[in-house]
Amino acid sequence: MNSLIFFCNFCFLPEICTNVSRDVCFVLFIAMASGTALIYDDEMTSYKLLWDDPVCDIEVPERLLASYEQLKHYHLVERCVHVPIREATEEEIMLVHSSEYLEVVKSTQTMNEEELRRVSGNYDAVYFHPNTYRCAKLAVGATLQLIDSVMSGKVLNGMALVRPPGHHSQRNAANGFCVFNNVAIAAQYAKRKYGLQRILIVDWDVHHGQGIQYVFEEDPSVLYYSWHRYEHQKFWPLLRESDYDAVGQGEGKGFNINVPWNKVGMGNSDYLAAFFHVLLPVAFEFAPELILVSSGYDSGIGDPEGQMNATPECFAHLTHFLMQLANGRLCAVLEGGYHLKSLSESVCMTVKTLLGDPLPLISGNMAPCLSAIESIQNVRAAHKPYWKCLMYEEATPLQDLSTKSQQMMEAELIQTSTHPVAEQAVGTANSDEVIKTDRFLESHMKKILFPVPPVKTAAAIVSKADAHLLPILVQVEMEMNAQQLKTLISGVDAELVTEEKALLSLQNMVAVLDKILKKEVCNGIAESPVASVSTTVALKHCIGFGLQRVLCIVVGDMDLELDLDDGKILLINICQKRRSEKTNSKYHISLHWKEDTEIKLVQSVAKALTAVSTPDFGAYAPASQENVLEIKRLRDQLQQEWKMLQCSVKDWISGT
Ligand SMILES: [Zn+2]
Repeated sequence: MNSLIFFCNFCFLPEICTNVSRDVCFVLFIAMASGTALIYDDEMTSYKLLWDDPVCDIEVPERLLASYEQLKHYHLVERCVHVPIREATEEEIMLVHSSEYLEVVKSTQTMNEEELRRVSGNYDAVYFHPNTYRCAKLAVGATLQLIDSVMSGKVLNGMALVRPPGHHSQRNAANGFCVFNNVAIAAQYAKRKYGLQRILIVDWDVHHGQGIQYVFEEDPSVLYYSWHRYEHQKFWPLLRESDYDAVGQGEGKGFNINVPWNKVGMGNSDYLAAFFHVLLPVAFEFAPELILVSSGYDSGIGDPEGQMNATPECFAHLTHFLMQLANGRLCAVLEGGYHLKSLSESVCMTVKTLLGDPLPLISGNMAPCLSAIESIQNVRAAHKPYWKCLMYEEATPLQDLSTKSQQMMEAELIQTSTHPVAEQAVGTANSDEVIKTDRFLESHMKKILFPVPPVKTAAAIVSKADAHLLPILVQVEMEMNAQQLKTLISGVDAELVTEEKALLSLQNMVAVLDKILKKEVCNGIAESPVASVSTTVALKHCIGFGLQRVLCIVVGDMDLELDLDDGKILLINICQKRRSEKTNSKYHISLHWKEDTEIKLVQSVAKALTAVSTPDFGAYAPASQENVLEIKRLRDQLQQEWKMLQCSVKDWISGT
């Protein structure tokens, strides 16, 4: 599967796939969970804010209740493996926190309201309740139960729905609604108990998880990636060290990645671009053994804190990309999320994806905004010294950001509030926006209720040698009448399909395709002795069925006679022969690639489709300079048409 390494290192295919939201992807690598844990207990709703505090009043027990209700509504709860909750031990909590701080939190159990207010006031954006300590111990314990379930192989992945959240809390301090740092403790625990040497933490909450950064900034065994609303340090937690140039310290240099968002309104394409151009290349190079997601949904649409525009579908895609790493071992742990509907829909999309359901189409114009590109360029430049996948990066950090001057003007008008969280929360969400968001989420809910096909993978495999290696599939065979067959091969080189074996395989391939088109199966695999004819027939069949966008990836040298001008088919050909006579066009892209790796394609593709196991990429080998230059050449050529390929301001400007 070596060639896949290259796809991911340079993020070529995923960008285009997402960019066009293909209806059918012939070679789509989906990881299907062999089990997803869901860890939740009502008891974590047993604490709440007891007094008036506009900073803290958005962190409510209903956040958990609404999320769990929605999971039940979509029948996702019953599909998950239930893992009981437990309290974390003091020793486990002290993997990250000091004993002095633990004693402070413990002491809040018996406090009256006045005392609770006083101790809460010692920290930034924190409230305590007599049940806080118990719930915080359960939140850590739930997270550790999830780690144990995944590491023991009981499940492939899972989600812990917990309260209080954790990513802001520090060795000696509660912070930003967080008491104990659930995810940081989990990473230390996994290192100690299972001897892990590489853990990736992805923090997609809209706030910077500075607590996690502080714990691991000198530790090369934990790669921490966070994007966050930053606005030139004007957004809480208002820290200089949340910017892109905080790359880690000492041995940990390169293992702390901050993607600061300098304006609100970031959407699906901005988030995906940050994955494609920053996180995924580095993560594949890092090759984690376990992924922890600080899974905050205040980065989703409608949230009063984040004021971003990412839709619930986006979190399905983010989850899916991460599932391709660490052999699929992924633990998502709830952090923030304060718009109850948006939060609960996004939680559902995450769990649905962990279960291996097909991904929903992603909405919106797939073109990252200038400010997002600026941040991405800066992060790539800052991390160039530490990662081989960025070593050919040419762009340098930008001094003058497009958002800076506007920020300065606004800063003169508005004095920075002492309670920035509250100020932002009540900020700019006007009633029109609220209605728009609610409507959007309503229509989203209707859309994602599509039934999941009962069978994952159909197959029409001719050679017995391959068939016995495949996991359980539906074998498909179809008899066609003469007229159907004539229609099928009309216009293709009929001489190639006169052999009976070729005819049979062609019929079987169409049968598999029909099952996919009719949504009886999620995906399928068909073997064909005459690949060029099969491909042409399959594409014609899809268009005939009424699909508007079909992505076709051809690996190897193959000449196809297809009309690609109407934009219904995007053909990507990874080939050895350079196509000198035809230049690339928007819908016909040839990647000339020198790669001698042998791939057992049928087994590998079937394995990926049925996802009994996520293909292991093995040790990281950097791409040759020749291949990198080929990709860069293609990028330059195509980034005006496919804007998700842009990753520097120079690209962005040339594309406008
Ligand atoms: Zn947050």
